[in-house]
Amino acid sequence: MILPIYAYGQPVLRKKAEDIDAQYPELNNLIDNMFETMYDSNGIGLAAPQIGLSIRLFIVDGSEIEDINPQGFKEVFINPVIEEEFGKEWDFEEGCLSIPDVRAHVKRKGELRIRYFDRNWNENVKTFDGMAARIIQHEYDHIDGILFTDRISPLKRNMLKRRMEGISQGRVNVEYKMKFPKR
Ligand code: ZN
Repeated sequence: MILPIYAYGQPVLRKKAEDIDAQYPELNNLIDNMFETMYDSNGIGLAAPQIGLSIRLFIVDGSEIEDINPQGFKEVFINPVIEEEFGKEWDFEEGCLSIPDVRAHVKRKGELRIRYFDRNWNENVKTFDGMAARIIQHEYDHIDGILFTDRISPLKRNMLKRRMEGISQGRVNVEYKMKFPKR
């Protein structure tokens, strides 16, 4: 089932999300719906707050991205903890399904080590770099209530201000289903 994506301005995008346990109702179903929703909107990552749930869960699928080598970087991250970020900072133009038509350069560290449970509740500790690390950092920010536009220069943020206000008021053309803040 395709779920509506919560738009910039929705309070849930600003909350620090909570851990879940294996008893969380219909978790498998939820994860399937998140993948369906992400593919429908051509995303490469989706965090639970973006579908209105303040829980520490996100999914990624960067299989289509050429410089991600491990065959099919498709993963579910439950209760993740980034244990360390390291390596050289690099700059990349990011976007976000919750903030359509807005792109901006964000600097992030090149590598990270993350501990998380996968959808079978196996605990993993893995190291990622390049685009895989970048996607994880962006999604991980979501479960802490942080958006990529928080990490851009004040000048650039100011330039984007009106467009972002427009999004929060539903003034945006978007191909996928979104849920805008109540006015
Ligand atoms: Zn995002």
